[in-house]
Amino acid sequence: MPLFDTHCHYNLNPLDTDWQEHWHLAQKNNITHSIVVGTDHETSARALEIASHDANLSASVGYHPGYFQEHSDQFISDQTILTTNCEQHLQTITTSLENLITRNPIAIGEIGLDFYRLRSKGLKRGVLINLQEEALKKQLKIAHKHQLPVILHVRDQEDRTHDTAYSSVLKILEKQTPAKFVLHCASGPIDYIQKALEMGAYIGFDGNLTYESADHLRKIFEITPKERVLLETDAPYLAPGLHRGNVCEPWMITETAHYMREELGADLEQIYQNSFLFFDITKNHIQ
Ligand SMILES: [Zn+2]
Repeated sequence: MPLFDTHCHYNLNPLDTDWQEHWHLAQKNNITHSIVVGTDHETSARALEIASHDANLSASVGYHPGYFQEHSDQFISDQTILTTNCEQHLQTITTSLENLITRNPIAIGEIGLDFYRLRSKGLKRGVLINLQEEALKKQLKIAHKHQLPVILHVRDQEDRTHDTAYSSVLKILEKQTPAKFVLHCASGPIDYIQKALEMGAYIGFDGNLTYESADHLRKIFEITPKERVLLETDAPYLAPGLHRGNVCEPWMITETAHYMREELGADLEQIYQNSFLFFDITKNHIQ
């Protein structure tokens, strides 16, 4: 059964150094197509470069919400918000994305909100959340302008109930619903998933679906219309069951696919078709 890995980071280490070997091994395991997903300017440019080597690899470009945490010193210093820097960074993101789009990526992403990884508190936390939200809005606008599907990364702590990344992303999506979007590596409360599904969301499932503790993810799988399910590795992260804790290599998607079919009754052929529809790819590329 051929498989389509809709979210993979051949552009990040430890995969990047020998990405060709990883891609060959994936192909040997019947993975016919893969989307290489960027997280900032550099990794998006690299995704485009990698995808240029093979018609069955495509690139997605965008700024991951974690970008702001990584550069937090540039946005706030000694309890002072560096407003000009904040504005400049947001402008840079827009310019950089418009430049990357001239190289024909297949999607915008991964973009979104991640309050789970916010290590900062108080004022700094507020500033970083605001930057994440503004960057998301700008990137959604660009996706709309170029009619590109959107790969969303949304994550928060399970025990938080108010003003979460989930409630916040719904508010933003309600104002600007992309024609097509996927909740990559889905997480979050069921009512949030349901609302996103009503807006047309696709849902991406990864190796963590196979974990014994993943009842909640299996519940999300259960309520997702099967024509909206996508399969992904998120390699080098989230290795499935047997390989948990190790670097996730792209070929390992076969274990997640096997689990979906055997344990959850998934129709892998349909999931394969869903990927082509979502990314608007014709299958003529198969070599
Ligand atoms: Zn990812």
